[in-house]
Amino acid sequence: QMQMGTLVKITAVARSESIAQAAATAGFAEIRRLEEILSTWIPTSELSRVNTSAGVMPVHVSPETLMVVQRAIQVAEMTDGGFNIAIGPAVDAWSVTDSRRIPTDSELEALRPLVDLMSVHVDLEKQTIYLGKAGMRIDVGGIGKGYAADQAVDALRRAGAIAGVVALSGDIKTFGRLPGGKKFPVGIQHPRKDGSVLAWIDLQDEAISTAGDYERFFEREGVRYHHILDPRTLQPARSCQSVTVIAREGIWADGLDTGIFVMGAELGMQLVEALPDVEALIVDHEGHVYVSSGLRDRIRKP
Ligand code: ADP
Ligand code: MG
Repeated sequence: QMQMGTLVKITAVARSESIAQAAATAGFAEIRRLEEILSTWIPTSELSRVNTSAGVMPVHVSPETLMVVQRAIQVAEMTDGGFNIAIGPAVDAWSVTDSRRIPTDSELEALRPLVDLMSVHVDLEKQTIYLGKAGMRIDVGGIGKGYAADQAVDALRRAGAIAGVVALSGDIKTFGRLPGGKKFPVGIQHPRKDGSVLAWIDLQDEAISTAGDYERFFEREGVRYHHILDPRTLQPARSCQSVTVIAREGIWADGLDTGIFVMGAELGMQLVEALPDVEALIVDHEGHVYVSSGLRDRIRKP
């Protein structure tokens, strides 16, 4: 099914076919519910209302929106500002997938004051979000799919599944094991060889998420323009080809992959090594592959 702008696949393992079917249906429904809250493409979503109220007033939001925005701010702190959900106006200026136009320097310069995470005010008590400057927009495209995968897995569980996988293209959350006891094998896509797997990894109760410059991009005079922007320059981030992060929860894996993509391989690996239960495989801009210490014995070459 197409949801959140990508292909969503759900695998459910249960004692009977009908329970498995019901679980998958519950998973899809949960993703649709979150999309209606979090999508900035849907004008009535909570986040769209937060965005249209920028510089005007705080907007009351659901616990889910608060949670995602709060986590996003934590990821921003961890990645030294590499991850920044206030990037919205710059993402629109590029709109890489639609118009394939390159915004001018002065155009981007004018947006810079709006890409200001300090002006994203989250009030946990009042359950509101307020964007302090008119024209600001938050965009959870870099973390929302991982969160949706987590929540969909919980829905599968509640519906009686005993194991399963929820995949929103590159954002995958697994729980339990396959019938027969094997873990779920997941392939990490090669960033420059379409359809070819760089490495295999077996997962159980873990999430994996990949941010790459190869999914949505265009080329102009030999330069690749893609959808992950460096908040400092508002240009496509240049230091990596792909970043794959494995974590307990999809929300961390997804947020960190985008943030580390901006940080680059060296600083990104330092961060990953310092975090418990987080592993990464990074392909830098020259194609060099970095693998975190906890992952080295777990990956298999195809
Ligand atoms: P996808 O799985 O859709 O490729 P990613 O996790 O790679 O998602 O995140 C890319 C999306 O995140 C972009 O489409 C954009 O909406 C948003 N984004 C781009 N740059 C940043 C950034 N520096 N910080 C946070 N979000 C970003
Ligand atoms: Mg991400």
